[in-house]
Amino acid sequence: MGWREQGRAGSDRETGCGVADEGHGSDGGAGGVRAGIVATGSELLTGRITDRNGPWVAERLGELGVEVSHLVLVGDRGEDMAAALRFLAGDGIDLVVTTGGLGPTADDLTAEVVADETDRPLELHEHMEKVVGDIISRFADRLRWDADALAAANRKQAMVPRGATPIRPAGTAPGLAVPPHPWRGGPTVLVLPGPPREVRAMWDEALASGPVQEVLARTAPWTETHLRLFGVPESEIAATLRDVGAGTDLTPLEITTCLRDFTLEVDLRHAPASADAAIARDAVVAEIDRRHGKTIFSRTGQTIDELLFELLDGQVVATAESCTGGLLAGRLTAPAGASAHVAGGVVSYSNDAKADLLGVPRELIETHGAVSPQVAEAMADGALARFGATIAVAITGVAGPGGGTEAKPVGYVCFCVRTADGRTLARDPVLPGERGDVRERSVVLAMHLMRRALTGEGEPAPA
Ligand code: ATP
Ligand code: MG
Repeated sequence: MGWREQGRAGSDRETGCGVADEGHGSDGGAGGVRAGIVATGSELLTGRITDRNGPWVAERLGELGVEVSHLVLVGDRGEDMAAALRFLAGDGIDLVVTTGGLGPTADDLTAEVVADETDRPLELHEHMEKVVGDIISRFADRLRWDADALAAANRKQAMVPRGATPIRPAGTAPGLAVPPHPWRGGPTVLVLPGPPREVRAMWDEALASGPVQEVLARTAPWTETHLRLFGVPESEIAATLRDVGAGTDLTPLEITTCLRDFTLEVDLRHAPASADAAIARDAVVAEIDRRHGKTIFSRTGQTIDELLFELLDGQVVATAESCTGGLLAGRLTAPAGASAHVAGGVVSYSNDAKADLLGVPRELIETHGAVSPQVAEAMADGALARFGATIAVAITGVAGPGGGTEAKPVGYVCFCVRTADGRTLARDPVLPGERGDVRERSVVLAMHLMRRALTGEGEPAPA
């Protein structure tokens, strides 16, 4: 009974996710399908590039109700890859997804290793040989390959383990959906190339392949609840969960808490037909609601960006940024379709820019300082007027590391959200963290202030 955090030493770290280690056994829980991901490439181990395939595949599998148990990074050595596959098979994994090492060069070994481990000899797949040949010949001139090298590269990439289904390439390398070992069983292996763009392009067809469909047929989607909170420390949620766990059996529930983008994400998952789990879930949600209800801004898993995008429908937005240097404008214009509501923004870093571009009175800056609630308000007014906006947001602060004073230390940031119809929401907290944190946290806080101004929720909780 109860709940405890796993895998974290501290409580209020900037990022960090934890899964309660009770209530989800190694049988894959409700879904019944467990997956492992193997991202290959020596450059992933040296730190030269960061793995962009593993997390993406993990998220996609999670959406399908597949539990991802392991994400393994291995170099381009065949033995290391084989060891990773054996480890996953030994752990009873149902589906392995590999990325990388499918190309034409000698260090691209994945197809060979998978064929070996599943005891399926590699055979030339004539149709794929033609498909790959057509693709390669299209840019062969540019690559200046000679005919022999071309044919060899072509043939290598068209070798398919017996009984496996090839997946049409997005680059030059076909993927492979390899059924389990013919008599020993073990995992189905989905083999995808390395370039992230190719992984994404081939994903749908890979899922539709026979061997993968066979595994996915065994999943049963979880029932999920997604709470998103802003302005509550992770330690408080941990304490709340512990208290609920003292009175209610939370074993049938999988609880994940994750601090991401200064937002606390609490995800609850359980088997669809479990009445005990539903009771546990309701108890957890009710207690979080009671203690931290004011900080919950989403119950669907929607991000602040998505939520704000919807709320801004019909508005005209203008930004006036100092210490965030345009990061807020960048964030607001990231989604396609932002032009429907974003008018523009001013990066008014210097006092002159504040005065000249936004019409902030110079006396105001001299009297109160560039970082002051008064100047933030004048910046918002300026942005409203200059852009003919219905809502304007101003940020001015001390991002550090220098420039702090006792009265206005590093992290002191003034915000003002003002609407054309006269509503104002202002805050001037001291935000924790280094320069980068202060700037990024400011952007998120500004977005929440905009949300509150638009929904009429009033003063936000502390950042
Ligand atoms: P190719 O035909 O391009 O060689 P491949 O399947 O053999 O395809 P790799 O050689 O493993 O793929 O990787 C090719 C490139 O793709 C790498 O140099 C790297 O830039 C990128 N890449 C591979 N794996 C990853 C990954 N996990 N995350 C991010 N980028 C990756
Ligand atoms: Mg390669």
